[in-house]
Amino acid sequence: MHLGHDRELEALRRRVRELAADGAPSRQGRAGVRAPEAHEISALRQWTARLFSEQLLGVNWPVEYGGLPGAHPLHESVVADELARVGAPGPVGGGLLAAAAIIASGTVAQKDFFLPRIRSGQHIWCQLFSEPEAGSDLASLRTRAVRDRDDFIVDGQKVWTTNGHHADWGYLLARTDPDAPKHAGITAFAVDMATPGISVRPLREITGTADFNEVFLDEVRIPAANAIGAVNAGWAVTTASLAHERASAGSGPALFGALDRLVRLAGEVSRDGRPAIERDDVRQALGGFAADVHVNALVSAFGENRALHSSGDAADAPVSKILFSEVNLGLHEYGMQLQGHDGVRVEGDAAVFDQGWWQDAFLYARAFTIAGGTSEVLRNVIAERALDLPRG
Ligand SMILES: Cc1cc2nc3c(=O)[nH]c(=O)nc-3n(C[C@H](O)[C@H](O)[C@H](O)COP(=O)(O)OP(=O)(O)OC[C@H]3O[C@@H](n4cnc5c(N)ncnc54)[C@H](O)[C@@H]3O)c2cc1C
Repeated sequence: MHLGHDRELEALRRRVRELAADGAPSRQGRAGVRAPEAHEISALRQWTARLFSEQLLGVNWPVEYGGLPGAHPLHESVVADELARVGAPGPVGGGLLAAAAIIASGTVAQKDFFLPRIRSGQHIWCQLFSEPEAGSDLASLRTRAVRDRDDFIVDGQKVWTTNGHHADWGYLLARTDPDAPKHAGITAFAVDMATPGISVRPLREITGTADFNEVFLDEVRIPAANAIGAVNAGWAVTTASLAHERASAGSGPALFGALDRLVRLAGEVSRDGRPAIERDDVRQALGGFAADVHVNALVSAFGENRALHSSGDAADAPVSKILFSEVNLGLHEYGMQLQGHDGVRVEGDAAVFDQGWWQDAFLYARAFTIAGGTSEVLRNVIAERALDLPRG
């Protein structure tokens, strides 16, 4: 949702809806940002190519790489919002994040090679940042990259790599100067996921699906020409992508969809022999969630508009992300609570509500409070960078 009414953006929303109706690949209905099944990948690559060729994505890229001069600053955010609203997928993986890094800091050769292949859907990317001992404190990462003539040799382990099992390329952070202060000794690389020495092991999650992976790097040889930005300057390269991830994680359309489902659910389940929706406490709760979902949409639009007018502050993106992920969690917990004993049913059970969507969404909802910065860490960011409180 965006504050105010803008004809250009409304026309764009219509265009996204029409395109989605005319052939968005259908995905197995699951909550959250989920990795596709292997058999869905080919159609999703073609869909990505279509989103770019219709100039719905990549509009803020340089014109020579397909950008659209004069595009509305909220163009891409409206497209993402509308795709989510109609339940159509966006591009698979971290191609947009990698592209942002390459456009800002990459060489001409990197732009010429990677950007067209991201546009065509040929290259799916994953983000190789987090490690077993480096998540919130990402700068303490220990994966090493040691220079060997024209290459770097990389050893280490990454974890929680979404789409690592589908990715053609990885956006990797590795330590290139172990003696420098921790933020100063890191380099960003593009790594071909087919390089010998890389093994990807999917992690089965509590939801039963495998959305992310452990990635092991054992003497992996990466050409030095694949460093994105200067050697040891990777922290600055990556800060931009993390800000993008946090800002985009707080969007609201999925919450409006969940609210509709919750109201339907309250009409279907019974409490004390009558539909739950007839009870005052349930109606109070539904009203509360409706208010939360609207506040979330307004807060996210507020942050977006402030960013547009360069009047935002360091609290905007974290506030939006915390609010979204915590409203989302509360709403799905309540959906499970409403089902009482039936909440233990799962997908495939003929009597399960909404084909088991609630159980999956409830289990996945916790992930949003962690991905792209945990709620606790984002509260620290607000305290230190927006309120200027002393560091804890
Ligand atoms: C759905 C999902 C997708 C992801 N995809 C990717 C991906 O594609 N690529 C990738 O690299 N990573 C990915 N991640 C990993 C994600 O970035 C990390 O999980 C996140 O940064 C937290 O790190 P951690 O899991 O190591 O937790 P930790 O940092 O170990 O935190 C553990 C707990 O301690 C708390 N904590 C930590 N530090 C502080 C502090 N200073 N003050 C207060 N509390 C603190 C945290 O809030 C948390 O509750 C993904 C995660 C999720 C959930």
